[in-house]
Amino acid sequence: MTEMKRPLPEVSPESKPFWDAVQEDKLLIQHCNSCDTNIFYPRRLCPECWSKDISWIEAKGTGTIYSITTTYLGTTSEFTKELPIHVAYIELDEGGVRMASNIIGEGAETAKIGDRVEVDFVKANGDFKLPLFQLIKS
Ligand SMILES: [Zn+2]
Repeated sequence: MTEMKRPLPEVSPESKPFWDAVQEDKLLIQHCNSCDTNIFYPRRLCPECWSKDISWIEAKGTGTIYSITTTYLGTTSEFTKELPIHVAYIELDEGGVRMASNIIGEGAETAKIGDRVEVDFVKANGDFKLPLFQLIKS
């Protein structure tokens, strides 16, 4: 993939452990120890039971495309250079969580709901990695 020059995510106190792990090629999600629910995006309280007893767990980085669309129009010049962009929700294999990301690489233009994908940590703006996904070749 060509070098990405994207606007980078804003890192909040809640999401900092997630983004720190991504920089080390690890995909983390949260897990509620009170009600056994997986949680993503990162939060201070469990959205199911409001517990603060939340841990970080490492996800395998594999999942299934839950929804996907392709955008051919960019709102900023940074994104225009990458078009078309395949925007997807990925249901992770850990269950209960979906992650918004992009599908990249071979076959991305024909990726569809139900396709199996795995995370790929891609550098944007030189050194900040983003967790994007590519199709698992069967
Ligand atoms: Zn809970």
